[in-house]
Amino acid sequence: MRLQTLLHAVFPPACLCCEGRVETDFALCGACWADTPFLLGAACDLCGVGLPGQSSLSGPLICEECHRIARPWSRGRAVLHYAGNGRKLVLGLKHADRAEVARAAGPWMARAAADLLADAPLILPIPLHWRRLAQRRFNQSALLAAALARASGCDWLPDALLRARHTPSQDGRDRDGRFANLDAAIRVAPRRAAAVAGRNILLVDDVMTSGATFSAAAQACHAAGAGQVCVMALARVARDA
Ligand SMILES: [Zn+2]
Ligand SMILES: [Zn+2]
Repeated sequence: MRLQTLLHAVFPPACLCCEGRVETDFALCGACWADTPFLLGAACDLCGVGLPGQSSLSGPLICEECHRIARPWSRGRAVLHYAGNGRKLVLGLKHADRAEVARAAGPWMARAAADLLADAPLILPIPLHWRRLAQRRFNQSALLAAALARASGCDWLPDALLRARHTPSQDGRDRDGRFANLDAAIRVAPRRAAAVAGRNILLVDDVMTSGATFSAAAQACHAAGAGQVCVMALARVARDA
C-alpha cells in the first residue's frame, strides 16, 4: 500500500474551505470551487484587480487606481478576489495555521503568473517584522513563495528582504496613511544584495490592498540593483469591496 493511500485511509483529504471529502489533498470540493472568486477574466496588468466586461485584445489593461498611483513595478497578478471564499482561504492561511492553503495556492499562482515566471525571476516573499513573526511563528508570504517556487521551478530566497523597522498594522488606515506607514520600511538584507542585483524579481504576498507594501519592497529591490520587478498576490482587495 502506498504511503499516501495509507495516509488517506487515516486522514481522508478534506476540502480547504468546507472540510468536506475531496479526492486529492490540497483541493477544493466542486461546490466551494464554483463559489470561490478566482480572477480568471480580464484583469489590470499592474495590480491584478479583475476588470469584468473589459477586453485585453488591444494590449495590457491598466485599472483606474493604477493610472492614479505610481507603481514601482512592471507587472502584477492575483489569483483571487479578496471576498467570500477568497477571503476565507487567506484568513485560514494567515491566522489558523492552514499551511495546506499555500500548497494548493502554489499551482494556482504559477498559472496566474505564467507569463511573469517565463522570465525565471527570483521569488521573494514580503517579510514580516521579527516581532510579528515571533507572534505568528511563520510568515504566510514565505509559505506562498515556497509553494510558487516548487510549482514553477524558479529560485526563491526567504530572507532577502527585511523589515527595516516595526510598522503598526495597516488596518484602519486610508490609502495615503498606508503608503506613509510603509515608507522605506523594507530593505534588501546586506548579505543578500549580491543575489538580488541584476536579477528579475517576483515579489509574493498574501493580499494586496493599497499596494503600499509591494511599493516599499519593489523600491528596495530597485535600490539594490534588481532588474525587472513584478508582483504576485494570492488575493487582491478590490477598491469597492
Ligand atoms: Zn468545500
Ligand atoms: Zn491596477
